[in-house]
Amino acid sequence: MESSSPATVSAGHGPGPAPADLLRRLRARGAGDPVTHVERVPARAGAPAPWPSWAPAELQAAFTRRGVVAPWQHQAQAATLAYDGDHVVIATGTASGKSLAYQLPALATLLADPRATVLYLAPTKALAADQLRAVAALELEGVRPACYDGDTPRAEREWIRRHSRFVLTNPDMLHHGILPGHAQWSGFLRRLAYVVIDECHTYRGVFGSHVAHVLRRLRRQCARFGATPVFVLASATSGDPATAAGRLTGLPVTAVTEDASPRGGVTFALWEPPLLPPDSGAAPPDSSSVPGQAAGNRSSAPALGQAAGDRSSAPALGQAAGDRSSAPAPGQAAGDHSSAPAPGQAAGDRSSAPAPGQAAGDHDDLRQVRRSALRETADLLADTVAEGVRTLAFVRSRKGAEVVAANARRSLDDAVPGLGDRVAAYRGGYLREERRELERALLHGDLLGLASTNALELGVDLVGLDAVLICGYPGTRASLWQQAGRAGRSGQEALAVLVARDDPLDTYLVHHPEAIFGAPVEATVLDPANRYVLAPQLACAAAEAPLTPADLVLFGDGAKEAVDELVAAGALRQRPTGWYWRHRERPEVDLRGEGGAPVCVVESATGRLLGTVDGGSSHFLLHPGAVYLHQGVSYVVDELDLADGCALVHVEEPDWSTHARDVTDLSVVSVRSYVDAGPVGMFLGEVDVTSQVVSYQRRRIATGEVIDTRPLDLPARELRTVAVWFTLSPQSLALAGVQSADVPGALHAAEHAAIGLLPLMATCDRWDIGGLSTAVHADTEAPTVFVYDGHPGGAGFAERAYGTASAWLRATRDAIAECGCETGCPSCVQSPKCGNGNNPLSKPDAIRVLDVVLANLPE
Ligand SMILES: [Zn+2]
Ligand SMILES: [Zn+2]
Repeated sequence: MESSSPATVSAGHGPGPAPADLLRRLRARGAGDPVTHVERVPARAGAPAPWPSWAPAELQAAFTRRGVVAPWQHQAQAATLAYDGDHVVIATGTASGKSLAYQLPALATLLADPRATVLYLAPTKALAADQLRAVAALELEGVRPACYDGDTPRAEREWIRRHSRFVLTNPDMLHHGILPGHAQWSGFLRRLAYVVIDECHTYRGVFGSHVAHVLRRLRRQCARFGATPVFVLASATSGDPATAAGRLTGLPVTAVTEDASPRGGVTFALWEPPLLPPDSGAAPPDSSSVPGQAAGNRSSAPALGQAAGDRSSAPALGQAAGDRSSAPAPGQAAGDHSSAPAPGQAAGDRSSAPAPGQAAGDHDDLRQVRRSALRETADLLADTVAEGVRTLAFVRSRKGAEVVAANARRSLDDAVPGLGDRVAAYRGGYLREERRELERALLHGDLLGLASTNALELGVDLVGLDAVLICGYPGTRASLWQQAGRAGRSGQEALAVLVARDDPLDTYLVHHPEAIFGAPVEATVLDPANRYVLAPQLACAAAEAPLTPADLVLFGDGAKEAVDELVAAGALRQRPTGWYWRHRERPEVDLRGEGGAPVCVVESATGRLLGTVDGGSSHFLLHPGAVYLHQGVSYVVDELDLADGCALVHVEEPDWSTHARDVTDLSVVSVRSYVDAGPVGMFLGEVDVTSQVVSYQRRRIATGEVIDTRPLDLPARELRTVAVWFTLSPQSLALAGVQSADVPGALHAAEHAAIGLLPLMATCDRWDIGGLSTAVHADTEAPTVFVYDGHPGGAGFAERAYGTASAWLRATRDAIAECGCETGCPSCVQSPKCGNGNNPLSKPDAIRVLDVVLANLPE
């Protein structure tokens, strides 16, 4: 949600301490200096532009009434491109006023042509609702903006279809409702002038690939009715937005990326929590620091997650996803699994799920070597609040946000009783009124500190804070900048602090500031050619109208093969006039689901549906005995009924967490591309990954101590996906000094770190990808490290890794080599989700392995 304009006014407050002074005091607290780098991001003066000459006076007046005196240059530039008929993506920072760039041409067109219509797509209902209010507030005659989503009453739907000329919806509704009902929408689609795609960077990975085809289906229906709408996309700052927007829409798109809105200067510090003394007996981060958290915080945060969401709820992946473990490796393959939970910053209401890997199970099989980022962030939050500085702390998981808020409150209350009341936790799923209340309290200073999940990245207008604390790298530079962008009222300096977690990527980044401040933000990765997406989308398209040869061009690479498969499978029938859907019912395709139908989580005692979990994750998260967290409440699974797709659970808060272990096997199906580099080979291809969840461990939350390991009886499952892999000759390893007994540990350690560093190259996080390493693989007949997409058919991550292999493995090598530990730690080669309990691992040999690869691989 963007609302900035030249006239946006922040609530007036006296200036807090200057960021540099504040930072000096914060870093002087402990023994060592935790700050590894300070970057000064200079203030920027805004560059306004005149209203475009084509913008009618009535529209200018409406915006002026809302406080927009004139557009900024980037807004005017994008608006004029769109008005002239170019597809355009505006990719600028938080609060740079992207909405004006599409509102201006869209509304000008609606005013000029009383028949024209506009379709606006947002990744969440909350964002669409906010945008509706913004458009409605302009009070333009005859526009009749309306939201059309799952909550729209039946009685209003027909009115909207007939009379609204600015319809706001989401891709799910477009897919499930509008496109299948195109006959009822023909009047609207025939006159469609603009399609606005807000927050388009959220359409990434498999979800993004689905949305890309939903948009092609939309274009196809428009074309049938004779309409060729202009697409206007708004994106967070991202690398190469024109290409990503082009992949998403299938159209040539012009990018506007020069941000001309004003910005206060930011002092940006990189913060590495100190190493704890060895064997200090430190308890795991989350457990010891939450007395009273279960009852106290929960009650202050009503469980509203379902109310506002597009989807009933997101799986609580953080908890059991902590470890996907293989039994002791029979084939000496070390598997690191991913069943692809949506990463933290993913689209839609899933972003309200705890970011995987952050919650309970995170590090508890690993010796804690650094002070936890959560504790450090809580202390920083307490310190800044005590200084009277309005501070927002971003924490990846909901539980983490609650822990940070609770700890900060406690320290403040210890210092000054009652001061703790000025800190609160925030998570996604709040109703608009509650969000507004929090915004108001923070802006007016009633509230000084807020710990939030990245739910605040979307849909909340909270800018102009004095300080932003970012607990753990949010996964992408794009998200990092979006979060840091919350800091800084116009004309005032602000502080941003990235607090590193004990993790290879975070550690690498705080020691390589150039990777943050000197690098462009990541490209948004999606792969419309994924055949697991393409085939079902073509089935949907055929059910809407028979496919023609021209349609195959529209749907792009692989469409013909996918259609042939659908014919062979009996889903389509080929006739001289095209391909016809053969069934009465429409195909069932879930844009956000994958890996089979989602599994419902049902509370046995009440029959209440708590939420759903992706089929792909269900064996890990919902096996009998699993501890399942949902909106902060702990449940234990009684039964997983795979036939009915549901898990029965009851409320219980045991003092252990559960960690599923699986055995993994991988076979190469085909090689798409390879580089023959002497003793080293680099490959991209399709693989079959077979995994079976065979047992789970119960571990004491407070100590990480393993209580027992219990067997499970679940069927094996297959994932066909895309992998990147490299091989080395045994001779080259021997020459490099890797003893043959150390080869498995060397490869395994290299694999872990490579997975950890891949998010530097693509908009994935380590939970989107899996890996497997082995001293001899049956298909490659050589020592091999595989890294694969955790999504059926691949999501473009492995492909991106292959394309940037030398940069990726160089960063991996440096991350390992520069880590101060001796034998490997969570900051370098240990993985929180290791399939083999981080055994074997050889840190020095991993460096040797990567040196061999880098010495041979062409740049
Ligand atoms: Zn280390
Ligand atoms: Zn592993």
